[in-house]
Amino acid sequence: MRESQQTSRRLVDSRTAKVDERYRRLLDDGADPNEWAFAWRTEINRGGFRAYDFLLEEVVDKGRCVGCASCVTICPADVFDYVDENPVDARADACVYCVLCAEVCPVLRPVDRDLPDILDFQEPSLSDSYGSYAYGVYARSTDPDILARCQDGGMVSALIIQGLENGTLAGAILGDVEPDNNQIGRHKLARTKDEVIDCAASRYTYSPNTLALQQAMRENVGPLAVVGVPCQVDGVRLQQHSSIRMEMNNWYRDNVTLVLGLFCSESFTHESIEKLGEILEVDHKRIDNINIKGKVVVRLDDGEIMHASLKKYRDFARPACLYCLDYGAEYADIGAGGIGLDGWTYTLIRTKRGHEAIEAAVAAGVVETRPLDDEPRGEFLMKKLSADKKKNRPLPAQMPTLAERQALGFLCPKTFYTKGPGAPATVDEPGEG
Ligand SMILES: Cc1cc2nc3c(=O)[nH]c(=O)nc-3n(C[C@H](O)[C@H](O)[C@H](O)COP(=O)(O)OP(=O)(O)OC[C@H]3O[C@@H](n4cnc5c(N)ncnc54)[C@H](O)[C@@H]3O)c2cc1C
Ligand code: SF4
Ligand code: SF4
Repeated sequence: MRESQQTSRRLVDSRTAKVDERYRRLLDDGADPNEWAFAWRTEINRGGFRAYDFLLEEVVDKGRCVGCASCVTICPADVFDYVDENPVDARADACVYCVLCAEVCPVLRPVDRDLPDILDFQEPSLSDSYGSYAYGVYARSTDPDILARCQDGGMVSALIIQGLENGTLAGAILGDVEPDNNQIGRHKLARTKDEVIDCAASRYTYSPNTLALQQAMRENVGPLAVVGVPCQVDGVRLQQHSSIRMEMNNWYRDNVTLVLGLFCSESFTHESIEKLGEILEVDHKRIDNINIKGKVVVRLDDGEIMHASLKKYRDFARPACLYCLDYGAEYADIGAGGIGLDGWTYTLIRTKRGHEAIEAAVAAGVVETRPLDDEPRGEFLMKKLSADKKKNRPLPAQMPTLAERQALGFLCPKTFYTKGPGAPATVDEPGEG
């Protein structure tokens, strides 16, 4: 029996059930993914429907939610709370039937085809397997305070501080850490250099940075930079450029002026931090920083560096990351990663805004750059890791649910479609005997 024909706990409202049926039909019929959104857009003229039920049924209950918080921060009626990396319909009665939560979910649908035109890519707009970009450099902050705290070259923190100081930014949406565990992230609206530096470096658990957009809007803080992993970048772009235009979209479009996307193969569960402590045989509370460079590089609180196998650590990769095909933050103004030259940020300049930001930082002497040719392995890895993330993967809405993956006994997001049950069947070579 098709899932849409089953009576679902959530889809008791007949309009909502119809939208779900239409959506499932489009998926089953192999319709162009850009048509999927018509399943709900057609319902708007009829007065809307309970989109939160549809979204929770299709994405969250099926374990496909990547936790980007886009539905949470776009909702004008504040219907959702955000709990354990998922939205929860805490105030469902407040829903105003605007349908925006469904519209901005990157798992429910791919971004509209015209988004690349809207984003104003810097020329020459080169297109590669990791999205459009104009040029790439290795970049590094020249500020010792940033270099002492950052993950790679500190380019991300340097650009934001430069923006705050030259007045092109009033704040930044970043990831801070929980007071009792410095490897677990929480959202932060930063407005000063010290706050930006406090937030520097990467946490490899999921950090719900974009929740801070709610505070920024409430306090009308703009222009804003947003730092996020690719799923968060997609969520921000969908919020800014949805074809359903409301005040919330306009605010994000006018005020989010610089999106800095972090390259991302996967993030890890909270449990992974304790497990890493066990693998290394140290108290996990002593872990000061984690970096991934082919292996897991751990810095302890006394500065000691330890290494763990990435293969082992991958057992704790977040299952939801399967539903994400973007490594390079393809719709960010600037993409940033730690591949290639150690101590430098691999920096891809994608849009005009990204170009202006890096140019201003270099002109002010707060960022220095080196050509990518200085360490060609960076570009090689960029191509490979981006391709790996798309290899054999259908769009998220067409992938198995979490329960189906549990039944298959295979939760690893990285290898499901390469070595796991989603990999194409290998054709046996004709052999002797
Ligand atoms: C979950 C995760 C996975 C990553 N995977 C890869 C990868 O596969 N390949 C690769 O090349 N690079 C990856 N990166 C990016 C890399 O770790 C660096 O963030 C990047 O090189 C920028 O370095 P920087 O020194 O310029 O940044 P910094 O100046 O140190 O600034 C880092 C910024 O990241 C924010 N941040 C910290 N943790 C998180 C988080 N969990 N989610 C969102 N924002 C956060 C901080 O608030 C800070 O603003 C990943 C980052 C994260 C967070
Ligand atoms: S993926 Fe993002 S937008 Fe979709 S349900 Fe999850 S938090 Fe909401
Ligand atoms: S792999 Fe994708 S879904 Fe997972 S944290 Fe990174 S960007 Fe988000």
